[in-house]
Amino acid sequence: MAGLKIKKDDTVQVLTGKDRGKDGVVSRVLPTQGKVIVDGLNVAKKHQRATRATMQGGIIDKDMPIPVANVAVICPSGNHVTRVGYKVDTDGTKTRVCKKCGGDLS
Ligand SMILES: [Zn+2]
Repeated sequence: MAGLKIKKDDTVQVLTGKDRGKDGVVSRVLPTQGKVIVDGLNVAKKHQRATRATMQGGIIDKDMPIPVANVAVICPSGNHVTRVGYKVDTDGTKTRVCKKCGGDLS
């Protein structure tokens, strides 16, 4: 399977669900699941049981993975939502580009 078009540290906007319209920075990419984890988005409250290690239980916030199909990259050059394209240089180097303005996303 080819790598995902979205990379860690990309700024993305959520297209569907309860966080629709919100944006955040990708903190982790899960290529095998086709999902990304975005800082502070798609947060689930998890009940954590007290353990000997932590000595306290309670509710913790956990960022849940979001399918890449549900997010769009925000182009840093124009601050617009876009799709990721690829440009192949003459030497074979592939760079990620914004499909809207052609700006470099790498
Ligand atoms: Zn752009």
